[in-house]
Order: sequence, then structure tokens, then C-alpha cells
Amino acid sequence: MSYSTRILTALKEKNPSQNEFHQAVEEVLISLAPLFDKEKKYEKHAILERIVIPERQVIFRVPWVDDSGKICVNYGYRVQFNTAIGPYKGGLRFHPSVNLGVIKFLGFEQILKNSLTTLAMGGGKGGSDFDPKGKSDNEVMRFCQSFMNELYRHIGAHTDVPAGDIGVGGREIGYLFGQYKKLTNRFDGVLTGKGLNWGGSLVRPEATGYGCVYFAQEMLKERGESLEGKVCTISGAGNVAIYTIEKLYQVGALPVTASDSKGMIYDKEGIDVALLKEIKEVKRESLESYAKIKKSAQYTPVSAYEEGCNGVWAIPCFAAFPSATQNELSQKDAKILLQNGCKCVSEGANMPSTNEAIELFLQAKICYGPGKAANAGGVAVSGLEMAQNASMNPWSFEVVDSHLHRIMESIFANASATAKEFGDPTNLVLGANIAGFRKVADAMIDQGVV
Ligand code: GLU
Repeated sequence: MSYSTRILTALKEKNPSQNEFHQAVEEVLISLAPLFDKEKKYEKHAILERIVIPERQVIFRVPWVDDSGKICVNYGYRVQFNTAIGPYKGGLRFHPSVNLGVIKFLGFEQILKNSLTTLAMGGGKGGSDFDPKGKSDNEVMRFCQSFMNELYRHIGAHTDVPAGDIGVGGREIGYLFGQYKKLTNRFDGVLTGKGLNWGGSLVRPEATGYGCVYFAQEMLKERGESLEGKVCTISGAGNVAIYTIEKLYQVGALPVTASDSKGMIYDKEGIDVALLKEIKEVKRESLESYAKIKKSAQYTPVSAYEEGCNGVWAIPCFAAFPSATQNELSQKDAKILLQNGCKCVSEGANMPSTNEAIELFLQAKICYGPGKAANAGGVAVSGLEMAQNASMNPWSFEVVDSHLHRIMESIFANASATAKEFGDPTNLVLGANIAGFRKVADAMIDQGVV
């Protein structure tokens, strides 16, 4: 049995029913096999045995009172996965689907993603099964305060720096930061994604989406192609999808779709970003409202999607940007995309494609940018926010954006060079996994058995 297989088998036995965690680790371990054939030091130092177990994980009760006076209780999580190259860093996800397995998959991905950014950030992730949807601002505030009443003792600017993810945006980060400050009496750079006038960074809201498009451009450039004049499909309607669409217009492409938990819109004239922002960020309404206002848009509810498929991927495109959530692009979706001539998939979400879908993209040798590389722009600008906080010196939009662009170029260059080194030149899954892993694993060896 190979080193990777042995660790994976043991992990599944020890952590039953953490399916998303198994999936994320499996994808990585399979692609690391060529590295272990070449380098025996990782097995000798039991790096895999160590790296798949979080350094620490906290599960806590989050009690809060809703507007009607009812007492509600949610689960809170923070998984502190790895500090080999920097303090724990990664977002908080508030969504009913959150459980320990989901947070561990996200935390594991974050270790390698953060390593690829070239910045000094370890890996962590947290969240809750709390659903901010339909809650009043006051309910969200009370929940965030209760969440922080426990979390504050585990985090700190040099220990663990949480940020946003699904269900956690500027509003939630504000309430979390306010409560952290009240409990500790410290104004620290303890969270990223902060408001601009109290320590946030320009470009942080745009970073994941912009970065994902920069990454697609790098993949295409190597093949003498570009996004200019091309039809692109995007899933999701959150921060990542919105700023992917915005950047696609800036590079001359035509983004035609968006989706939420209830359905999708296909606007052949191109998605109206201002309208999308208004509906999703201001009114917090479903996408059905978009189609009511913009007549060129066609709305399809989830119930009308073909069985086992996501309606977004049925729309023919040159490039696809999955920017909603894990496992939103199945093997069946991948087949449809490829049949329709899709040449590029750049993942804004974390693990949006199933391992079977990834296999098809790799076999077809299209430009496939796995999430941990393509969506690293968000956490990279979080790292730049930490740098600005530490130096008490805010940077201009242009400076942050040019750093982001350079970081995305360097992530592509590193993943691509590593893929070539291991004789599989178009396989950026292998390239990103080996490049991200090597840096963390070597740091772990340097720091001894801890
Ligand atoms: N949640 C984002 C991610 O998946 C950003 C994390 C951060 O900024 O720390 O990378």
C-alpha cells in the first residue's frame, strides 16, 4: 500500500462521515504520490500523518435570543489546522450545512492555498450552522457577539486571524470585531475583511473574484488564448461571483449567468452588475427579482434543473467560473461543459468540482484552475490587510491590486512549473498541491516534531 493510500485509509476510519474532508484530502494525497516516490523525507518525518490532523479544534455552544425573545442555539467551530508557515488564517462560514467535516475540508484546503500565496499564513477555518438568511441585523449582531464570546480566547493577530466566507461579509465581521475589542480591550488586526475606515484593506471585497479572473488569464495566456470577447458562465451571486463578473467585463469578456440557492439567471446581453449588487448586497433578495426587472434575463428555478446537474453549466461557454459552494459541479456537469466546448474552468469557490469532474477536466487537458490556486486572491489580500495593519500604513487601491495581480501570476507560475517538473505539464491540480505542500512540509521538518 502506498504512503498516500495508507494515510487516507486510516483517516477515513478515524473520521467517519466527514465526507467533504475525505474528498479534499483524497484529491491532494493522490496528486502528492509522485512527490513521495521521489522524496523519502516526508514519509520518514511522518508529515502526512501529522498534516491531516488539525493542531487544535474547538467546538462550542452559541446561544442567542431572536427578536421574538426565543432562545436559539447553534454550533460554533474553529479548526486550527497548521502553523508551520504563519499564524492560523482562514474564514468563518455561517451556513446551515456547516459541520465539523465541512470546516475540516475548508481548513485543510486553506493550508495549501495560503502556502501558495507566498505570504506567511498558516491554515485554519471556522464557522457555524447558523443561517444569516432572513435574520434581522439585530439577530445577526447578537449571534456574532455570542460567537465571539467564546472565539476571542482562541484568536489574536499573531495566533489566528479569521475572516469571511459564505454567510460572513462586512456586516458580520463588524459585529465580530466590535465584540472582540470589547472583551479584550485591544484594537488588533485580529480579523480581516474589516471596514475601510477601521483597518480594512481596499480591494479585499473584490479580491477573490478579481484574482480568479487573473488566474484564468494566466492559464489562457500560456496557450496563446484570452478571455476577450468570450462568453463566460458564473455560478453564485455572493461576493466572489459579483467581482468575478465585474472583472470579466474589465477584460472584455461577456459574463452571462449567476445563481443562488433557489435558481439561476441567464442574461444573454450580459449580467448587469449594478443590478446584481443592488439585489444581493442591498436588498438581500433572490435572483428572481433580477429577472423581473431585466427583461433579457431568463430565470430558472433549481426544481427545473436536469437531475444531478446545475443549470448554470448547461449554458454554453468558453470559460466557467464556479463561485458558489462545494460540489456544485458534478461529473455530468463537466461532461456537458466539455461537450459545449468549454476551454477553461477557474474555481472561485472552495472544492466546487467533484473529484470525478476534475478527472474529466484533466483528461481533456483544458485550462483547469483548482480553487486552492485560483481563489487564493481573497486570502492573499487578507494577508496584505494584516501587513497594512501591522505597519499602520494603508495602501492605495492600485498598490493592493497590483500586489494581488502579481501574487496570482506567481501562483500560476509556481503551480505550472511544478506540474512540468513532475512530467504532467497541464495538470495544475498536481502542480498546486505539490508546490503548496512542499513549502509547509519542509517548514514542519525544520521545526521538529511538534
Ligand atoms: N474564505 C476565504 C477563503 O476561502 C478567505 C479567507 C481569508 O481571507 O482569510 O480563502
